[in-house]
Amino acid sequence: MPQYKKPKGTRDLDSKTTEIFEEIRSLFLAISKDLGYEHVEIPIFESTKLFERSTGETTDIVTKQMYKFQDGKNREFSLRPEGTPGLIRAALENNWINGHNGNKFSYFGPFFRYERPQKGRYRQFFQLGAEFIGSDSLESDAECIYFLSTLLKELKVKNLIKINSLGTSQERLDYLKNLKEWLNKNKKNLSKEDLTNIDKNPLRILDSKRELTIKSIKNAPKIHDFWGSETSERFKKLTSILDKININYEVDPCLVRGLDYYNSTVFEATGHEGAQDAYGGGGKYDSLVADLGGNSIPAIGFAAGVDRIASAIEMTDLGPFCIFLPLGNECREFAFPTIAKLWDKGIPIKAHWNETNLKKALKRANSSSAEYVLIFGEKEKEKNVITCKNMKNGDQKEVSMKVSEIASALGLNLK
Ligand code: AMP
Repeated sequence: MPQYKKPKGTRDLDSKTTEIFEEIRSLFLAISKDLGYEHVEIPIFESTKLFERSTGETTDIVTKQMYKFQDGKNREFSLRPEGTPGLIRAALENNWINGHNGNKFSYFGPFFRYERPQKGRYRQFFQLGAEFIGSDSLESDAECIYFLSTLLKELKVKNLIKINSLGTSQERLDYLKNLKEWLNKNKKNLSKEDLTNIDKNPLRILDSKRELTIKSIKNAPKIHDFWGSETSERFKKLTSILDKININYEVDPCLVRGLDYYNSTVFEATGHEGAQDAYGGGGKYDSLVADLGGNSIPAIGFAAGVDRIASAIEMTDLGPFCIFLPLGNECREFAFPTIAKLWDKGIPIKAHWNETNLKKALKRANSSSAEYVLIFGEKEKEKNVITCKNMKNGDQKEVSMKVSEIASALGLNLK
């Protein structure tokens, strides 16, 4: 039995999963660059106060899910539970915000939440995200939705974008008052936690994943009944842009998002069959920059869960391109410089250094579904050749130990 185990809710990612993560990351970076977002890296811990101030003191994330710690000088820090607060902090601290057309940033990395672990919900997970700071135009909202939707589309992850508007702060205040009154009159099937949230944070109840709660709030007042003409007009225009760019979306009057700082447009990418767990989501947060000490400028952004996207991506288990089988000590030593030269040319070769018996070595190579096998035993050493076997069609030929000839036997053309 191993003596130590990983912390509950964390994952050891195997090479197949890290390969999928890498694929997601590189596609994300490519789209981010194409759309003019600057990719940045910021610390994975920040002052606890930053999250309390931005994510919200009454949110689950801040009240229950932060990994808090004190450093050697008793300063209060937290492992980042989400990306937006740190990014806005960094943008302000480093004077990154100065564009007339707004400034755009993207990030990718690990995040931490002390949640009850379950499939798709971990205590350390990866998020990718983007923030568009300083632009209020409707097209910025459409651009963020396009960004998330395109990423999922190109990764061939089926999804549906849900959108809603949380209106202006006054519209939201009117709505919250009405919602609280309704909830107080319709408490019957609510959970204990829901009941405490009626006063503290009633929007959280609309965000609930608990079936009984979902059922019992079905007829609760909806925010769109409180939209003024400007909000209605803005939302209508946004849907018309999304129609024109063929985004697969649906208006969801119950979508509120769990964090305190959102206003106006909110959106979420979910799985197709109405799966409850989202791939990601975001929205406008027009007062956060000012709340954190910057000018009063609007912003919009999104974050998506890499672990969840990765689990939706099916990847065929590709074997190594080529396996090298030296049979025994002398052959290994003799062939190593040639293999190193092939590596230098960027030819992917996985060396099986511990083989002595050809039959067993070929069996092992076969089970890892390599395309080619290079065999180098006593016979080859004497003739100064290497045997190249095509594992797809079984063809086998001896070629000289020259790098260019081995490469061409592997179907590669060295320039
Ligand atoms: P949020 O910041 O809560 O809006 O989350 C954005 C996305 O990050 C979610 O839609 C999930 O895909 C992912 N996510 C959030 N929390 C977790 C978690 N504990 N484990 C795995 N993925 C998560």
